[in-house]
Parts: sequence; structure tokens; C-alpha cells
Amino acid sequence: MNKGVFLKNFIATRWFHKFKSRQGLEAYQQRELAKYQQFLESHSPYFRQGIPADFKTMNKAFMMENFNQLNTLGVDRDQALNLALESERTRDFSVLQGQVAVGLSSGTSGHRGLFITSEKERSMWAAAILAKMLPKGHLLGHKIAFFLRADNELYQTINSFFIQLKYFDIFQDMEAHIEELNRYQPSIIVAPASILLDLSRRILSRELQLKPQKLVAVAEILEEADGKKIAQAFGLDHVDQVYQATEGFLATSCAYGQLHLNEDIIFVDKHYLDQHRFYPIITDFKRTSQPIFRYELNDILVENKEPCPCGSLFTRIDKIEGRSDDIFYFQGLDQQPVPIFPDFIRRCLLFVEGITDYQVRQHSESHLEVCLAPRNPAYEAAIEEQFALLAQEKAFVKPRLTFSDYVRNRKVKLKRVERIK
Ligand SMILES: [Zn+2]
Repeated sequence: MNKGVFLKNFIATRWFHKFKSRQGLEAYQQRELAKYQQFLESHSPYFRQGIPADFKTMNKAFMMENFNQLNTLGVDRDQALNLALESERTRDFSVLQGQVAVGLSSGTSGHRGLFITSEKERSMWAAAILAKMLPKGHLLGHKIAFFLRADNELYQTINSFFIQLKYFDIFQDMEAHIEELNRYQPSIIVAPASILLDLSRRILSRELQLKPQKLVAVAEILEEADGKKIAQAFGLDHVDQVYQATEGFLATSCAYGQLHLNEDIIFVDKHYLDQHRFYPIITDFKRTSQPIFRYELNDILVENKEPCPCGSLFTRIDKIEGRSDDIFYFQGLDQQPVPIFPDFIRRCLLFVEGITDYQVRQHSESHLEVCLAPRNPAYEAAIEEQFALLAQEKAFVKPRLTFSDYVRNRKVKLKRVERIK
């Protein structure tokens, strides 16, 4: 951890990135973008001759293909990949290549992504995330419980400074974690939504006795209904969210529980799908080791154009709706494929009272699998009815539904709505 870098960025993010107007923010972003472009031209072999005329955007496949040319530290892709795979296998994430930490992004779509971070970047990241996450007016003495898929240097960085932090490996037995949590009494819990759900059930059964001030959902999409359930169990107003990918620290929720893009750190170009939905194309102007420049994410974000009561000028996001590869396609009555956003699928289930857990998987245009807990013929009939209504409204041929038991595999991210290739 570079303490100087940490403090400078913590202070800047927490107290000085205040913009008086949206124009002021945009002018700041333009200056940062120009500086970043200059940096790339002088440090990244790929951009040495300037931004190629035919360069529009990059994505994970492009990043992997041009890894050696893009990164500014001379890291070799295959070497780094082997190191990252070895860490995953041995679950020893402390291995560094020089000062550079390597990691794999847990892409569900089959493309494996490799990311690298320098010590300076990790200090900046830790500063930004803590500056945005720690409760207002209450900085010191927090005990954070951090549930993670894989421990890596990026997260380890936080531990060494003014915050107590404990890691809980989500691959390990939950029962042991519960005991540890009861002892540790964290003031903040950071965990994937599915773990927060599990914890909230154990709070209700009094197996877990905690009074955290803040819950932060990470890594998985927090469904609105799940968020309410969790907050209620813990007696909190809302569950906070951090939307963070290996490509960058994208959004954080404010005191009102509303997500805002971190437009002080990243520039987001919005590629609109309709009036509110867009794919973000991001530039992280602080990322120097591995350029994130006009990088296309395939998450669908839903924008809320109303000003937020918190007063932030950063774009307000109603929700992260899902991955674009989880848009379902059905056969239209006119024979054309009809795209249906994950949100519509979700609603078919949310209208049915009594379901505690579900997952909907599209196997083909004409077949959906609905995994349910608990199972009940009445629920299944009600779900059939909801899909019939949706099919009618959107003019597509209603697919065949099959029902199965919902089984949670903690080793994979929870996705309530998923298209199977
Ligand atoms: Zn807000």
C-alpha cells in the first residue's frame, strides 16, 4: 500500500470532487480524458502512433488479443495468465509479478479476462472505494466483513490502513462464517447479494446476531425485491450497492440508496437501447497499467433522469438490469425475433406471492426453465399465466415452461435471469 497515494486520493474523492454544475463536471472529464489520451500515446505501444483512425471501442476479446501491445508495463499475457490460473488453483493470491498483481475476471460468458494492477492503482482504488463507501461523518473504527469469491491483492490493499477488515471466503463453509461473524460484530458487511440474502435469513432465525450500520451488495445484481427483504431483516433503510468490475469502479449508491456512476473517476459514454436503457462504454482515466479506453461493457443500465434528493450531479442509475447476453429472444407472431429485457422476465415471477427463490433460464426460443423454491403447483400455474400475458402484450409465441427445484451453487454468481447459449 502506498500511503501517500492513498491519502491524497481518499481526500480528493471524499471532499474535493464536488462539482457545482453538470457542465463543470463535464469540463473536468474532458481535461482528464485529454491527459489520459496523452499518457496512452506516450506509454502504450498500441497507441504510440496516436489513436488509430479505425479504433472505435475495445471489449474483453480485443483486450485479450492485444494485451501485450496495450499494457504499459511490458507484462506478457501468457505468463500473467499462467500466474493467475495458478493462484486460482492453489487459492494463494499473494503472488505478484514484480509490483503487478494479476487476476482473472469471472466472466460467465466464457471469455476469460485477464487484468493487472500496479501497487499505485490498488492504493487509488482502495482510497476511492472507501471514500465513497464509509458512512457520512463516521470515518474511523469501522470493522468491515468482506465476502469474496477470490482474495486478491486489490482487496488486500485496504486492510493495511485505518480500517479493520476481515475476509470471508465464499467458497468455504457458511456455518463457520456465522460463528466468526457473531464474534467479529462488523459495522459494515460487503458481500454478493445472494450471501446477504442468506445472512438475512439467519438474522431472522436469530442464528446470527448483528447490528451492522451498512450493508453493501457487490458482484451480483441486487434485485429490488431482494434488497427490500435484506434491509428489512437487518432493520436498515436500504442496502447499499457498489458496482465494480475488473474494468473499473463504476457506480456507488448515495445516502438515499440510489446508484450513481462514479463520473469523477471514469468517463461513461452511453450507448442507448431505448429512452432509459444503455450500455456503458467506459474510460477509466486513472488506469495506467492496462488501458481501459472506450471499453464496452455488456451490462444494461437503466438511467433515472430525475435529479436525486442527495444532490449529486453524477448520472443516477435506477438499476443494473443484467447483461446484454441475458436478453431473452422469442419468436414473434410476425416471425421476427422479439427481444425481452431481463426485467420483464423478473416481473413475471415477482407478481407471484410466496416464492422465495427463483431463477429463469432460457434454453431456446421455445423453452424456458423456471427453478423455484418452494415448489407449489399454484405458483407454477400463476407463472404460466404471467408469461401468457407477457407473450400477448409483446406479441411473441409463448415458450414452453418447465419447472425444477431451485438449488443455489455458491461457486457461481447468482443470476436470476440467464440465457443459456
Ligand atoms: Zn443520490
